[in-house]
Formats: sequence, C-alpha cells, structure tokens
Amino acid sequence: MDLPFPPIADETLPAVVMPSCPIDRKLKGQKALVTGASSGIGRGIAIGLGHAGADVVVNYVKDAGEAEAIVEAVKSCGDNQAYAHRADVSNEDDVRAMFEKMIAEFGTIDILVNNAGVQKDAPFEQMTLEQWNTVIGINLTGQFLCSREAVREFKRRGVRPEISCAAGKIICISSVHDIIPWAGHVNYAASKGGVSLMMKSIAQEVAPYRIRVNSICPGAIRTPINVSAWSTPEAYTELMKLVPYKRIGEVEDIARAAIWLASDDSDYVTGHNLYIDGGMTLYPGFETGG
Ligand code: NAD
Repeated sequence: MDLPFPPIADETLPAVVMPSCPIDRKLKGQKALVTGASSGIGRGIAIGLGHAGADVVVNYVKDAGEAEAIVEAVKSCGDNQAYAHRADVSNEDDVRAMFEKMIAEFGTIDILVNNAGVQKDAPFEQMTLEQWNTVIGINLTGQFLCSREAVREFKRRGVRPEISCAAGKIICISSVHDIIPWAGHVNYAASKGGVSLMMKSIAQEVAPYRIRVNSICPGAIRTPINVSAWSTPEAYTELMKLVPYKRIGEVEDIARAAIWLASDDSDYVTGHNLYIDGGMTLYPGFETGG
C-alpha cells in the first residue's frame, strides 16, 4: 500500500521499516462500508480492505473527487466493486439512505468501519455548545446510527458460512483518548470514551447472533487531522516523547489491523479495544525509570 506522506527520517534512531508481508484476499466476497473514507485512516482502511478482496462503499461528506480516486484505487486491487456515497454520519436520514443504497447495490453488508471523526478543540471554559454537539454528533452518535443499521442487516441476513463465520463485523475507530484524558479536547475525549462503552455494550448484546464488535484505538497516526503534531521537525521531536516505539504511526498500521478484525482470523475476538499506538498508552513518562 502507498503511504500518503513520505517517511520522516531521524538519524539518531534505526531506519523505519514498514511491514512488507503481502495482504492476501481473505475478505473476498465481503461487502464493506467505511465512513469518512476520503482521507487519512479511512482512506487507508478502504484501500486495505480492497487489497484483501472486499467490495467497498467509500463514504464521504466532502471531497467527492478524493472519494472517487479511492473508489478507483479499490477497484484496481483486483475484481473488486466500489462506489462513493455522500452522507453525513450524524444525520439519521443520510445514514438510513446510505444503508438502503448499499443493500440495493451490493445485496448486504458484512463489515462496517465507523471511522468518520472530527476535532473541534477549545479550552474547556471557552468550548461552545456547538463545538461539543458537533464532535459528539459525528464521533459518537454517528457510530451509533451506522452500527444500528448494520446490526439490523446482520440479524436479518444471519451467517453465510461460505463468506464468514460471523454474521457481521463492526470496527469502531476510537482513540487512545478513550482512556488518556486530553486537556483542551474535552469533547473529543468524551466522544471516544463513549465509543468504548458503546462498543462493548453492543458487542455483549449482539454476540449471540455471531456479530462481532471491536474498536481500534490509534495513537498518533500521520493524517490531516493532526498535521501540526508531525509536520515540523520540532513538533515531531516533541511527539516522539510520547511514543516509546519512536516512529509516528502510518495509516497502513491501522489498515492491517482492520483487515485482521474484519477477517475470520479474529473470529473469537469481540468487545475488544485494540491499541495501535507504538506504546503511547505505556506511560512513556516512565521510560527512563520515572
Ligand atoms: P481525517 O480528518 O483525515 O479523517 C476524518 C474523516 O471523517 C474525513 O474524511 C472527514 O471528511 C470525515 N468526516 C467528518 N465529518 C463527517 C461526517 N459528518 N460524515 C461523514 N464523514 C465525516 O483524520 P483521521 O486521522 O484519518 O481520522 C479518522 C478517525 O481516526 C477519526 O475517528 C479520528 O478520531 C481517529 N483517530 C485518528 C488519530 C490520528 O492520529 N490521526 C488518532 C486517534 C484516532
């Protein structure tokens, strides 16, 4: 897979070597929806699922041109089908229409990746209700609305053993900030903390129907959402103080994990938060003994 940005060199550390093991087509015949897929992590996951053989709906809310480019990238992975669909995940009518179209076009859904997310940062006492509601609406309510539609279809259709051991898989893109408090980002941390217990509660409720629900909790991944944290050498050096593995995460790191969670390789995994963070949640302040 192509990385969206060139790797950052740091001569004081071993060269960054990204995994080169090939992605096999273990998701062939499965139908996936990736929300917020026109950039960053969603883009990487959509293309990754395409490499793994899935047919993919590329949801976007703006950047129709980018979304079409990702559709072409998915199609070029093999004989995959793909199309782009504009929908605001925080809008119930948009979400319903997106699932209706997917079921009409692809027949069903096997994999939902709840990726769409935003930050609207402010010091707490200056945070507006609009900033709060926008972040909760997209990051948390959006995941609820999409998951609900997916579960309805998974339960209606049930398991097709020739396709997958499970009736469906939901992957919520959360954050290390579901457990690490984040000053100046109270709305964002609250939304991701909410995703954690929403995901686990849905997982508990739907497990008997062979529906698996898990979260990926990324650390610092190089995408447009956090450009200021990695785009200058000074910012990158500061960021690395929080990352024991001493490299920024790439969208490919997340895409490979999403393929695993979507595949039968993880068939006994549900209700799990998978931290993909280079050790950011390992209390890096204690790296040298504290
Ligand atoms: P990004 O800004 O590139 O991606 C977010 C995507 O969500 C964009 O394509 C955007 O258009 C889309 N989106 C926003 N509002 C939407 C809406 N209402 N409906 C549909 N789509 C909408 O940033 P990213 O880093 O790729 O973020 C993807 C996810 O990863 C987010 O949930 C984010 O919270 C999470 N995350 C990112 C990092 C990181 O370091 N980059 C770390 C932890 C978690």
